[in-house]
Amino acid sequence: MKYVTLQNGVKMPMEGYGVFQITDAGQCEQCVGDALETGYRLIDTAAAYQNEEAVGRAVRGSGIPREDLFITTKLWVQDAGYDSALKAFDGSMQKLGLDYLDLYLIHQPFGDYYGSWRAMERLHQEGRIRAIGVCNFAEDRLVDLCLNHEIAPAVNQIELHPFHQQRDALRIMRDYGVQPEAWGPLSEGQKDIFHNRLLSKIAVKHEKSVAQVILRWHIQRGVVIIPKTVHRDRMEENLNVWDFELSEQEMAAISTMDIGHSEIIDHHCACTAKQLNGWKIHE
Ligand code: NAP
Repeated sequence: MKYVTLQNGVKMPMEGYGVFQITDAGQCEQCVGDALETGYRLIDTAAAYQNEEAVGRAVRGSGIPREDLFITTKLWVQDAGYDSALKAFDGSMQKLGLDYLDLYLIHQPFGDYYGSWRAMERLHQEGRIRAIGVCNFAEDRLVDLCLNHEIAPAVNQIELHPFHQQRDALRIMRDYGVQPEAWGPLSEGQKDIFHNRLLSKIAVKHEKSVAQVILRWHIQRGVVIIPKTVHRDRMEENLNVWDFELSEQEMAAISTMDIGHSEIIDHHCACTAKQLNGWKIHE
């Protein structure tokens, strides 16, 4: 496992385990336990995933020293704003059953996220969060936040995979020292990616799976990955990506797969702003 050093000096594993859509508490606890046994040390959850309690139980039950773990959770749109964010953070920490958090992310660029950011800066200064960041911030919103902060966003977690490569977004993040993290690193399996001809050919050459080739491609672009699977054998497979290297030609060939937009969600669409503002996770 490799680590990246965030701009505030905190070390973050380059690969972690994501728990989106693992809503059954028993299954989530089992999966996170399996992931930790397999060797994952970064766990990515969110208040909106409704599984922070299960994640917390698995983390606390793992017997792994707290300082070896890197736990991320996220603030939902409904809780945007200074006071609401402070309250939501306390709620998440209570559910996780942890004393401090490694990374707290604004989940969506909607609502009063400047108010949220000020609250997160305070929590960071109080030592309750080691690093703060955002998700789904397009270039304009990210730069605006970078220019209007006390503490810079350490991470921007965005949709990234061979069909949606976001080169401009990565360039801006590099310019501002923001670490990119891929959600949907395996494109959530869309467009039959695991049977893609180009990726399959590269996989055969390296005696690896298509999933491993995709994950390796992210790592070589300097992107942190958090693939999700409920299967223990796939957890192992997805972690086994540190012993081979894609050539420049293979990286260039994969770059031709970009379709230049998301087929999962359009953050620029008014309908998305409306939908996510209306998505309530509590009373
Ligand atoms: P993903 O990791 O790209 O893809 C997960 C899908 O791939 C699942 O259907 C899984 O199926 C399958 N899969 C995983 N490993 C595989 C393998 N080796 N071979 C074949 N199939 C495999 O999608 P994601 O869950 O959306 O993204 C990962 C994490 O990013 C999430 O869990 C979450 O933590 C985070 N996320 C964040 C946001 C955000 O807005 N910030 C949005 C989405 C996701 P099985 O489970 O059946 O194996």
